[in-house]
Amino acid sequence: MDCAYGTLRGSKAISRPLGNLVSKANSKTAAAVQDIYRPILRGYFAIVALYYCVMSVSHFWYFDGLALLAMGGVAVVAAIVSGIAFYQLRKTMPARQVEHRQLSVNLLMIANVVVALNLNFEPQKMTYFIMLVMVFALASVNFRQSLFSIIVACGALMSFTGQLETAAFEGYAFLAFAAAMASLSITYLLRNAIIKIANARLDAVDQLEEVKIVSETLRERSLSDSLTALPNRRAFFERLRELKAKAAQDQIHTDVVWLVLIDLDGFKSVNDIHGHLVGDLLLQAVAGRLNSTKMEGAHVSRMGGDEFNVIVSSGQSKDEIAQWCNDLLKKLAQPYSIEGRSVRISGSIGCKQIDHALDMRSQINQADFALMTAKGQGKNRAVMFSAEHAKQAEERYAIEEALRSANLVNEIELVFQPQVDLERDTIVRAEALARWSSPKIGTIEPGKFIQIAEDSGLIGGITLMVVEKAFAELKSWENPIPISINLSSHDLISDMIIDAIIDQSAALKIDPALVEFEVTETAMMTDFEKATKNLDRLAGAGFAIALDDFGTGYSNFNYLRTLPIGKLKVDRSFMENPGDPMTEKVLFSLAGMARTLGVHCLLEGIEDEVDLLMAKRVGANAVQGYLFGEPMTSAALHEAVIGFSDKQAERRKAVG
Ligand code: C2E
Ligand code: MG
Ligand code: MG
Repeated sequence: MDCAYGTLRGSKAISRPLGNLVSKANSKTAAAVQDIYRPILRGYFAIVALYYCVMSVSHFWYFDGLALLAMGGVAVVAAIVSGIAFYQLRKTMPARQVEHRQLSVNLLMIANVVVALNLNFEPQKMTYFIMLVMVFALASVNFRQSLFSIIVACGALMSFTGQLETAAFEGYAFLAFAAAMASLSITYLLRNAIIKIANARLDAVDQLEEVKIVSETLRERSLSDSLTALPNRRAFFERLRELKAKAAQDQIHTDVVWLVLIDLDGFKSVNDIHGHLVGDLLLQAVAGRLNSTKMEGAHVSRMGGDEFNVIVSSGQSKDEIAQWCNDLLKKLAQPYSIEGRSVRISGSIGCKQIDHALDMRSQINQADFALMTAKGQGKNRAVMFSAEHAKQAEERYAIEEALRSANLVNEIELVFQPQVDLERDTIVRAEALARWSSPKIGTIEPGKFIQIAEDSGLIGGITLMVVEKAFAELKSWENPIPISINLSSHDLISDMIIDAIIDQSAALKIDPALVEFEVTETAMMTDFEKATKNLDRLAGAGFAIALDDFGTGYSNFNYLRTLPIGKLKVDRSFMENPGDPMTEKVLFSLAGMARTLGVHCLLEGIEDEVDLLMAKRVGANAVQGYLFGEPMTSAALHEAVIGFSDKQAERRKAVG
């Protein structure tokens, strides 16, 4: 390596005494030594140049003719050469070239003294050589350089011995020898010290480098998802921040960036049915498919659980993104072969073009809203956030805000909808349904606020309020009518809520046989194990359990058998097309399933006599619907019960 100022490791030019020391140094040391020497040498060349400039001028006063030419010439050359060396050394340069520059300057300095002595010999001027020896020692870039300059200076001194008396010569000779030795020692010590400093600097740089590598590795790890090796949640937010910062810096708010949120449908049940190992392998396989389908410039990350995100920042159009999302859904829905099993899963996608003027949270909320819409529309689809969604999201936000500050005791009321037993032809139970009237935003339909309360974690408070009010009603009724109360998924996996229900019923001495809890299949699937445990606890406390919205979920015979349910409530959506021959067939098989399981079957959404006849034909045990009454107040329910028994008596009389 051609390194500056230095005879370093492996270099033939290295001087022996320094060899061991320097041989320990590597090429990095050479560069570090160079860095330390450069300002020293530049200072040296600058002073020499300045000195000989001054001398060149001063020679005009002391010399003339040929003497002036000789003295002035050699001084001017020394000034110019050292000036050039000073200029050139503003940058690093190869070691040999530096050495040559310094040697030239040193020799020119000796030449100045030699010329001066030749023109006008004065013994005391011999001390110039001694001074030069010391100066060379201090400024030499290496030992060889120093040695050579000193030898030349001493040689020049010797050349004037003929003009000195013996005693004076001996004096100068000893002085020159002592100066030479002192100079060599100084060179050695100085260089030694500089190499140590260089090595210390290098150590510090190495340590810094190590720290950098370690922190970089830690950073990479902290940005990567350990299961799928995809960038993680933090990396996702960092990428979003980068894009936002870039947009702010470029003052461009029109860069087309798409935010794509992907959530797997029914991943929980894969975990429950096939186990967590298969679940993990499935997530890895999904990550692989996402990576293999990813568009150029896309940033794919895993948010956690079964949620993945993609940020696409290469300017795709809306149609291109929509096409890509659909292709991705198809790819995700292809069966996975995991641990010898064929596993199927689909995904739902919420997609949104980033609006750089909005904050990050709002962007994600909007994409999330599109994702929830995709889920709500039946999953395995992609929904693009639209202006209509923006309006809905605003409404949703207003409902959530009003719910958060709601005074539930005053604002939640219960209505009851009768359930009629077809065999006994009588009202046997009433479903308690919540109604919310907010002083801020008015009356909100339950389908909306219950869902929002579930999504925002506010449902627990509503459930406990409904339970409290339902129990209070039950207690106040002279002839208690059995009631059923809806529980949401959040309630089912909350030990605290289940404890509170059981405790409250015990405290009020409620007869648990009068109370049924309705749970949905989807609610069960949030955490099947936990939900089953809590259902068992409720059943153990004597409450009846009904499976609500039956037929819209998994309807898997095997798991239904394991649940402590006494009733299947067939979702009212099946009654939407009573004229369709398929409706009767489907209802027949659902009722048959209830029979096989040994539980009751209730058909919801019975609105007219045609529906009722069909319910009877398919073998339902009970019905609920507008034919027997819309959800009504407690007083109206009691009247309905009385009215129903009167009508029943009339019917019996007529039949009799
Ligand atoms: P759900 O539990 O399936 O309740 C039955 C819903 O069907 C009620 O709507 C009822 O008014 C409606 N319905 C009953 N018969 C008919 C009919 O013949 N035709 C039609 N078109 N609809 C009928 P509602 O009260 O609006 O409740 C909607 C959903 O909100 C409920 O469905 C339930 O999932 C939820 N919900 C209501 N109250 C509560 C509650 O206190 N807690 C929880 N967790 N969910 C509740
Ligand atoms: Mg219900
Ligand atoms: Mg229902």
